[in-house]
Amino acid sequence: MQIVEILKVLEELAPPVLQEGYDNAGLITGNAAWECTGVLCTLDSTEDVISEAIRKNCNLVVSHHPIVFSGLKKITPSGYVQRTVIQAIKHDIAIYAIHTNLDNKLDGVNDRIAEQIGLVKRRVLDPRPGTLKKLVCFVPVDFASKVRDAIFTAGAGGIGHYDECSFNTSGVGTFRPLEGANPFTGTTGKRQEEPELKLEMVYPAAFEKRIVAAMRTAHPYEEVAFDLLPLANPHPGIGAGIVGELSPGMGEQEFLATLKETFQTGVIRHSPLTGRPVQRVAVCGGAGSFLIPKALAGGVDFFVTADLKYHEFFDAEDRMVIADIGHFESEQYTTALLQEVLVRKFPTFAVLKTEVNTNPVRYFK
Ligand SMILES: [Zn+2]
Repeated sequence: MQIVEILKVLEELAPPVLQEGYDNAGLITGNAAWECTGVLCTLDSTEDVISEAIRKNCNLVVSHHPIVFSGLKKITPSGYVQRTVIQAIKHDIAIYAIHTNLDNKLDGVNDRIAEQIGLVKRRVLDPRPGTLKKLVCFVPVDFASKVRDAIFTAGAGGIGHYDECSFNTSGVGTFRPLEGANPFTGTTGKRQEEPELKLEMVYPAAFEKRIVAAMRTAHPYEEVAFDLLPLANPHPGIGAGIVGELSPGMGEQEFLATLKETFQTGVIRHSPLTGRPVQRVAVCGGAGSFLIPKALAGGVDFFVTADLKYHEFFDAEDRMVIADIGHFESEQYTTALLQEVLVRKFPTFAVLKTEVNTNPVRYFK
C-alpha cells in the first residue's frame, strides 16, 4: 500500500483545507507514492521519534504538530528542527502533520479532551463560517436516484446526526441541442422538454471537488445544470473548541482535582474561582486563549485550555474560570485518535503509537 492511501483516510477525517492560514499541515518530508512499511503516530515529530520510526520499520510518521512550521532557511544540524528533517530525509521517512485541520473538527483533538472530562451535548464552540454549501442540480427523473446516491456517497447530505438529507422538487427542464452537441435525449435544433427533478442538498465545502465530480459521473447529460451556493449557516461540526455540559455538575475545586488526575498534569494554573458550580465547560487543546471571548459569550463556567499568558487570566472577568492544564497534557489523546482512525480502516497494517514522551515541559515539585 502506498503512503497516499493512508493520507487519504487522514484527509477524510481532517481535510487540509480546514487548517489555519499560519499552519503547515500536510506532507513535510517524503513521498506519498512510496510503499508504506508502517505508521508511527505521535504528537510531535522529534529526533527520538524519527529514531523510533527507523527502529520499528515505520516509514510514515503521522504527527499532530508540524516539525517545520515557519520555514527553514538552512538545512544544517544547527537546531532540533533541522536535525529532525535531515534524519528523516536520510532514512526515507515521510512526516505528515495533521494539525489545526484536526483542531477544527468536532470529532478531532477536542473531542478526546471532552470525552475524558465526560462532557455531554457537545458542540463546536466557534463554528467556522463558509464551511457549509448547498448543491442544487437538475436531473431527468429516471436518473435522480442514481445521481442522488452518488452525491451522498461523495459526502453530501449530512445534517447533524442525519445523513442522506435532500429536497426534491419535480418540474420540467428545457434545452435545445446546438450544432456539435451530443445530447442524451432530444434532436439538434429542436427545443426539448424533459421531466426533471431539482435535487438540493448541503455539503461540507471541503469536499466540493469530489462531490461535483461524482454528480457529473452519475449524471446522463453532456452538460449538467447545477448551482453551488454559499450558505450563511456554518457546518456544525467544523470550527474551534468544543463546549458541552457536565452531567451532573460539580464544585470548582472538585473539577480542578478531576482535571489534574485525568490529564496527569504537573500543575494547573487557573484564574480565581467564582464560587459557582461547574456545569458548562469549554475545551480547546493547545493554545486556546483566542476563544476566551466566545467562551464568555457562551455562558461557559470553566474553560480548559493551555499556553495562557499572565494577562489572559484577567480576561475571565470573574464570570468563568480559565484553566491551563498544559499543552502536551491537553492534546495527549490525539495520538490514540490517529491510531484508532487508521486501525479501523487498515486493521491488519502496522499502525503504532510512539513510546517517546515528547513533552518538552517538566514540573519541579
Ligand atoms: Zn498543540
